[in-house]
Amino acid sequence: MKAFVMKEIGKVAFLEKPIPEAGPNDAIVKTTAALVCTSDLHTVNGAIGQRKDLTLGHEATGIVYKVGSQVKLFKPGDRVSVGAITPDWGDIASQAGYPSQSGQALGGWKFSNTKDGVFAEYFHVNEADANLAKDS
Ligand SMILES: [Zn+2]
Repeated sequence: MKAFVMKEIGKVAFLEKPIPEAGPNDAIVKTTAALVCTSDLHTVNGAIGQRKDLTLGHEATGIVYKVGSQVKLFKPGDRVSVGAITPDWGDIASQAGYPSQSGQALGGWKFSNTKDGVFAEYFHVNEADANLAKDS
């Protein structure tokens, strides 16, 4: 699949990447719309440090392509939106009411920070039942 990436600080490009795989609680979403945010520009300009071939983007809608074996609320073909913050909802910070700090400082912000973002033909969503919303 095609992905729009940060090659390194100050450099972007399109790259060919494999379609991501879903773990048991995850979904793979086919992107239908994704928005550029000033955070993407700050990221490319080095605000969060060096990233190598990291897919940019953290705000998107799409169609569910695959779900893991434990996903109950979504199925392939569902139209969905996903937020920029996709916490691990069972961790201590999330359970205490601070999901954006899931796992570490700003750990709920995964897309285009600690994992590939949504500027690609497909993207991965952890804990799909909690981190996706159905579009009607
Ligand atoms: Zn944003």
